[in-house]
Amino acid sequence: MNLGLVLERLRRRDSMTSGDEQPVPGALPTAANVGARYGASVVLRGIDIHVLPGEIVTILGANGAGKTTFLGSIMGLVTMTGGRVFLEERDISRLTPEARVNCGVALCPEGRRIFAKMTVEENLRLGAGLAHQQDFAESCDRVFDLFPVLHELRHRHAGFLSGGEQQQLAVARALMSKPRLLLLDEPSLGLAPVIVSVIFELISRLRDEGTTILLVEQNVRAALEVADRGYVLNTGRLEISGTAEDLRHSAAIEEAYLGLAVEL
Ligand code: ATP
Repeated sequence: MNLGLVLERLRRRDSMTSGDEQPVPGALPTAANVGARYGASVVLRGIDIHVLPGEIVTILGANGAGKTTFLGSIMGLVTMTGGRVFLEERDISRLTPEARVNCGVALCPEGRRIFAKMTVEENLRLGAGLAHQQDFAESCDRVFDLFPVLHELRHRHAGFLSGGEQQQLAVARALMSKPRLLLLDEPSLGLAPVIVSVIFELISRLRDEGTTILLVEQNVRAALEVADRGYVLNTGRLEISGTAEDLRHSAAIEEAYLGLAVEL
């Protein structure tokens, strides 16, 4: 065996990438055999997930299952131990997060991460990034149409907004880069039920207007109401997948998540 072949085998063994990963045709994105780690701690193994254009796909799982880490691997924010991420047919696994934004991916992170000392409009300007400064006014008009409250509050410091308003700002900021694929991490976390309904209506509307959505949620019932399909992660591995309809009627989901939600 020649040296090149030996090195290639070692590289594949180390990266746990088989080299056979392929995109699902047209999917936005395909995660093929994705693994990820923090330092020496491997937290995702062999994840195969795809989202077709126009779908809302939800990722469910207990705390620490690896949902946020998975979104991080799509966005290029965590170290992948193997596998590939494709956007349509393009392998984006080695692109920086900024380059992935330019390819049409945006993340609305868990906990909102808005800039409290900046105004609403300044937060939106950051979301637009360098690539979308010229059409900033047009993008603002679009998000103000989706979130009228942000128009009223556009000169206010974001730190003075309510939790629901801050969540709307976080989603609006992600939309300023005009993503084709929006990654939403726990958008309902910490919000009052009435605001949660507003957020989920908005998610449906975004999909209806052409944005493809990958949604991580603890609110399993609401997520399965709005989603087309779902996946369940358990300690870094994919455990169950199916249509939202099937998952809503799955005994395993009922026992692990929905039953608990009712008791609470
Ligand atoms: P949650 O619903 O609580 O946000 P999750 O399903 O999104 O959970 P992750 O946040 O992806 O899970 O975490 C997966 C695992 O990785 C957990 O064991 C967590 O403790 C660990 N982890 C997360 N972030 C880091 C980090 N920056 N460094 C080290 N370990 C981390």
